[in-house]
Amino acid sequence: MDMQTSLLDRLFDTGLLIDTGVEGLYGRSGAFEDVIARFERLIDAYGGADGAEAMRFPPGMSRAHFESSGYMKSFPQLAGTVHSFCGSELDHMSLLQCMEVGDDWTKDQKATDIVLTPAACYPLYPTIAKRGRLPAKGGLYDLQSYCFRHEPSNDPARQQLFRMREYVCMGTEGHVTDFRQSWMDRGLEMMGRLGLDVTMDVANDPFFGRAGRMLANNQRDQNLKFELLIPVTSAAKPTACMSFNYHQDAFGAKWGLHLENGDVAHTACVGFGLERIALALFARHGLDIAVWPADVRKVLGYQD
Ligand code: ATP
Ligand code: ZN
Ligand code: MG
Repeated sequence: MDMQTSLLDRLFDTGLLIDTGVEGLYGRSGAFEDVIARFERLIDAYGGADGAEAMRFPPGMSRAHFESSGYMKSFPQLAGTVHSFCGSELDHMSLLQCMEVGDDWTKDQKATDIVLTPAACYPLYPTIAKRGRLPAKGGLYDLQSYCFRHEPSNDPARQQLFRMREYVCMGTEGHVTDFRQSWMDRGLEMMGRLGLDVTMDVANDPFFGRAGRMLANNQRDQNLKFELLIPVTSAAKPTACMSFNYHQDAFGAKWGLHLENGDVAHTACVGFGLERIALALFARHGLDIAVWPADVRKVLGYQD
């Protein structure tokens, strides 16, 4: 049995995660959820005074917006679409017949107008573009969403449906790169206060295929993505628990985001992987929250 399986098994045994029979699709106990809620309050304590506009979108987004985003060019392997039965009574009969004999009943499902949200910030860009030019001080937004990625794994830190808390900044190059740097500093400080071992590293997204390798190299060479890594299942291969992305003016150009003076906006987003951070805490301090170090409990607001 490898280490990954054993952390997952222990999470199942304690009920912190609940097995559904599908890799990367888990229920969470009240205690697990409470850790996430408390960590989000810590995020609020750091980011709350910045004046971000909070918005919450459901875990599905407009298929039209998803298509415009170009996600299928870069990450077709991760996307999840929502399909539904749209047939007649006759079609329904053959659907049930199909299920009865164990044939593929899903092949006649039709795509709906909804796809599963791949990252919390995706629904934001078209929403802000629709408002017209950004205000003079730029834009700052606070988001949280369940996200879907088709990457089944027995690593409890790689889930198919997980939550991402994000801040997104829109403005000039200097404005958004300062924003990104300030959250890199805050992220290191927060995780340190929680007793977690952190490293920061340059990273790339898993762009699909041979052409994707070039995109990934370019992203690294230009320092467009950093990750804050924390051990979850392995100290040698720590897990990305936060990411810090600078999109240059690519999203601004794609979505038509403009500064007050009409220039194309630069954008950056910082994302917290909420399940991963909870798992890092459990991996570091043990599965029993009652015996976590007093200073860590205090930062998370547990009563002693
Ligand atoms: P990885 O390299 O581990 O696949 P990523 O680079 O794909 O991570 P991002 O696309 O930057 O991650 O997503 C933002 C944050 O969401 C990550 O920093 C991570 O904490 C979290 N995250 C990403 N994928 C998953 C997943 N499959 N399960 C749980 N959390 C995830
Ligand atoms: Zn984002
Ligand atoms: Mg990934």
